[in-house]
Amino acid sequence: MEGSGSMDKKAIVESVPQRGFFGHPKGLFTLFFTEFWERFSYYGMRAILLYYMYYEVSKGGLGLEEMTAASIMAIYGSLVYMSGIIGGWIADRLIGTSKTVFYGGVLIMIGHIVLALPFGATGLFTSMAFIVVGTGLLKPNISSIVGDLYEETDGRCDSGFSIFYMGINMGGLLAPIIVGTVGQEYNFHLGFGLAAIGMFLGLAVYLATRKKNLGLAGTYVPNPLSLEEKKKVFTQIGIGSIIVAVLVAAGLITGALTLAVFTMTISVLGILIPAVYFFVMYRSPKTSAAEKSRVLAYIPLFIAAVMFWAIQEQGAIILAQYADKRTDLSFMGLDLQSSWFQSLNPLFVVILAPLFAWLWVKLGSRQPSTPVKFSLGLFFAGLSFLVMIIPAFGGTETLVSPMWLVLSFFLVVLGELCLSPVGLSVTTKLAPAAFSAQTMSLWFLTNASAQAINAQLVRFYREDTEIVYFGIIGCASIFIGLILLLFSSKIRGFMRGVN
Ligand code: GLN
Repeated sequence: MEGSGSMDKKAIVESVPQRGFFGHPKGLFTLFFTEFWERFSYYGMRAILLYYMYYEVSKGGLGLEEMTAASIMAIYGSLVYMSGIIGGWIADRLIGTSKTVFYGGVLIMIGHIVLALPFGATGLFTSMAFIVVGTGLLKPNISSIVGDLYEETDGRCDSGFSIFYMGINMGGLLAPIIVGTVGQEYNFHLGFGLAAIGMFLGLAVYLATRKKNLGLAGTYVPNPLSLEEKKKVFTQIGIGSIIVAVLVAAGLITGALTLAVFTMTISVLGILIPAVYFFVMYRSPKTSAAEKSRVLAYIPLFIAAVMFWAIQEQGAIILAQYADKRTDLSFMGLDLQSSWFQSLNPLFVVILAPLFAWLWVKLGSRQPSTPVKFSLGLFFAGLSFLVMIIPAFGGTETLVSPMWLVLSFFLVVLGELCLSPVGLSVTTKLAPAAFSAQTMSLWFLTNASAQAINAQLVRFYREDTEIVYFGIIGCASIFIGLILLLFSSKIRGFMRGVN
């Protein structure tokens, strides 16, 4: 059944069986496992993609330059989170979140299947297009449905999001071990095939349990387009697409559209899109005075989150390269795979998330405010890069102990747990009511902007620039964290009652 904006929250919540998954609504089971498998496929693919791009052709790779491969990883990651804007819009105005999630999953699965086939670079770029759009449809919307399962006053909501965040990271933890091992030890395409199977399992869980567990959640269209609006919007989208297609074709034919130009375009968009978002929200007549103040408070938090994700996401690029090139992979009699290091971040999240949840509850009203937690996040992220300077002093001739990477991933997760779950919840609280539906997309834009900037940054990393590279980025993060700390009570004032 498809409803309209008038469907009230109470009817939705009542249609969802309120128990059945660790004391949470049964729908959480469906969303947990769908997202588990989606992340399994995404992080499994990411764990071997970099190596697939720069390994020599004789080793089953594409033989690209390392610097180029690193830039592509960042651009790709940025687009994956940027396209959430499209997903949010389609759900809000056309078909609702539930259907959008399903179509997203199908596109993602097709993307992985394309990579599983031996199509070389053409296959890679085709697959990327499918996965960018598919993830944009699925990722923010599945998170929104989590919010649909609970009454506004339901105290279980925050812990529901924590359980969901664990599902994300359990998928991310298993994937590099399974997909990474198969991809690196046997064949890259076989690895990508496993990612496709993962997404298939996610879709199967979703389809088999959706009706029974999710009830009306995600089936309504909050702000549907009228027939007239549809005509207008579709015409605009059509014309826009033709213009972009012509520009791209012209760029390709004349040779003006190089990878560097494309990368720069995405980097600029990564900064421009959130700026426009903020401007529109702030200027909208639908935004009240208190909400305007909160929009202003959100800006420094947004910038801090961008700095944080820039470091966190380099775990899959620069530190992945480091694992492959600079790390001694025989450790205590074990032969490690470089892709396995990608499991460290989700592993530490799964272990430490309950500890942090407990800590915040225990501290109660004495816990640090959101801006202070964000500055802690930046401090740990900065530290995670600064420690990588130490092994660099030993020169680049000898391989370093894998424990350096373990330490670095551990530190960044301490930061992630101060910033990421907190960021999700503060985003919903600071959002102007008229824009509430798009806030998930806005939060994911912090990651998109970070990776858009990374696409430029990662090109400066080389073995002989390590000390400067890790040093400058690490210090920048701590510096921004300090500024945030200095202004934290001022920012809290602008938050108007939100903590
Ligand atoms: N690792 C998290 C995820 O995959 C982080 C994404 C984010 O930017 N919030 O969901």
